[in-house]
Amino acid sequence: MRPTTVGLVGLLLFTACPAAAEATDDPYAEARAAMVREVALDAERTAEWIGKEKLSPRVMEAMGRVPRHLFVPPELQDFGYLNRPLPIGYGQTISQPYIVALMTDLLAPEPDDVAFELGTGSSYQAAVLAELVAEVYTVEIVQPLAASATDRLDALGFDNVTVRAGDGYFGWPEHAPFDIIVVTAAASHVPPPLIAQLKPGGRMVIPVGSPFLTQQLLLIEKRKDGTVTSRQVLPVIFVPLTGGH
Ligand code: SAH
Repeated sequence: MRPTTVGLVGLLLFTACPAAAEATDDPYAEARAAMVREVALDAERTAEWIGKEKLSPRVMEAMGRVPRHLFVPPELQDFGYLNRPLPIGYGQTISQPYIVALMTDLLAPEPDDVAFELGTGSSYQAAVLAELVAEVYTVEIVQPLAASATDRLDALGFDNVTVRAGDGYFGWPEHAPFDIIVVTAAASHVPPPLIAQLKPGGRMVIPVGSPFLTQQLLLIEKRKDGTVTSRQVLPVIFVPLTGGH
């Protein structure tokens, strides 16, 4: 047998492994599984900050289901499962998968929860949350991004996500209070309207600090008695919160 043939057989055996066999007709299934493994490794590497070695299995399963390659511009689809942020136009980015998984894990999503997101962007974070909670309301200030997110979520059948174009600083009072609030743009402070719209017992995750520098990812919890606690989790870098508020 010539060496090249041996190589080819090796390749065939490799692609015929069980994980790939489950891939059926999704050409990105193996890349997505590899991304989930990368996220798990990042969780281990950051265990000291995040206070655990592993993220919740429910969250990791959702990361393994949502087709991230369909949330990035078509020319970047092949990079869709890199564990890094990618440009989505209008100077904005889709967050790094590990950060999406971590934020989702910190929010401790439950099936009956109602969630609010400030900063729809590509709608990837909203889609991951939508896999885990009852309803997601998300606001995006860049109108064309809000429009393309609406179309994308419709096409993919995420019928428990509602997107609105506008300034998310003010939350979405008509659907409040929320069990979960996630802010995916860097804020100089925690918006008071979002604290007001957090349900007692609810969780908020928000990057707070200087725009264009490092921010601290904060986990904010509103206790049943209404008192609010805050914990710094990890230094992160997000695009800035904008708007005229
Ligand atoms: N969650 C997104 C990440 C998007 S980046 C994803 O999964 O792809 C942050 C987004 O927040 C950008 O699209 C930006 O336009 C938006 N944004 C910034 N300030 C905002 C504001 N005041 N209200 C709503 N959206 C805002």
